[in-house]
Amino acid sequence: MNDLVIDYSELMGKKVMCPKECGMCCLCQPEILNEERNYFRTNHPKAIVRVREPHDHFAIALKKGRGSCVFLNDERRCTVYQNRPTYCRQFPFHFHVSDRIKVELDMSCRGAWYGKGNDAISEAKELADNGEVRLRTALKEATSVYNEFFANCREAGVIADRTELRSSVSRNIDDLTDIAYIAKVMDASLEEPSVSLSEITAETHFDRDELNEAAREAALGSMSSSDPLSVPVYCDGEWNWNLFMASGKKIEWNLLDNDGDLHFKGSADPESITLPDIGGPDKNVLRDYISILNQRDSMMGSVFYTMDSLNYEDDMSNVYYGSLSVAIIDVMWRSAMLDRFMGTKGNMMREAIIFYDMDRLDAPTIGAFV
Ligand code: SF4
Ligand code: SF4
Repeated sequence: MNDLVIDYSELMGKKVMCPKECGMCCLCQPEILNEERNYFRTNHPKAIVRVREPHDHFAIALKKGRGSCVFLNDERRCTVYQNRPTYCRQFPFHFHVSDRIKVELDMSCRGAWYGKGNDAISEAKELADNGEVRLRTALKEATSVYNEFFANCREAGVIADRTELRSSVSRNIDDLTDIAYIAKVMDASLEEPSVSLSEITAETHFDRDELNEAAREAALGSMSSSDPLSVPVYCDGEWNWNLFMASGKKIEWNLLDNDGDLHFKGSADPESITLPDIGGPDKNVLRDYISILNQRDSMMGSVFYTMDSLNYEDDMSNVYYGSLSVAIIDVMWRSAMLDRFMGTKGNMMREAIIFYDMDRLDAPTIGAFV
């Protein structure tokens, strides 16, 4: 790997294991790289499909077009394990390439929460060695996109120091677990020309309804579909694959089985679910997660994506703090939603992060996951 610098800090002290009952990542249709296509074409021609969105590529077919990968058997084991695609080998690691390379650990993987198994950094280093050529190519392309992005920011006068933005979040991380403080940050990010967290204090009185509505809207963004393939999966502690599909005044809860069939479990009115006050161990879990988000390049990249989409009208500090606040209320609201459906008290935040993180990593970003 020589001169290729990769940031592994998110994996520091982490271990990962893969319990045999899980199989959750086999619900994410894996892309097949060009060099892998020949194996599947020759040995499993009916198992590959062409997918045209968001980019044209070949992937492994899903059971009934909506369930798990066709190679996952009834015991949730991979039947082509030795020849599984690169994207399957990499999970739960994601290599985010911007003007540098950083490895992010998908916290939707339950195997990342036990503190047992293989050393995460060693695993990721091996993957990086195997994917060196792809990483180098992506880094060259992404660096030029980042240079262009920063030039646009400078020209528009909206640039801020990334390191300082992150440091200010670290200094105020406890406050960011408090919905009264978040409400104030969100207001400032919409109203002020630029935002300084040190000047913000939590207000006793804030518009709770407005904040609930913003949280609900953020959380239901990815659940608002009747297509099981489009909504996020939550693998619960009993290894059930839960799908939540929202439309109008209803969130419908279904279980997806190994054959790709859905089983209705219940429904709720989203307006009856409100942001919880986070305390005790849940507060520590949330604080750790905010700290992870704050250091993630994909989070920063999604802020840059938003700035670009808004034509560089908003200062980077506003978009950064605003986006982080929305992510926090999204995961908090999901914690209340999961608790409503299945009772997760005691582990509300952990379960909400398991449900949320894959969505977070799927958000559009400037840069690329390789
Ligand atoms: S989500 Fe994690 S624990 Fe589950 S099958 Fe995938 S790698 Fe294993
Ligand atoms: S190829 Fe194997 S590891 Fe990859 S999604 Fe399919 S069953 Fe899972």
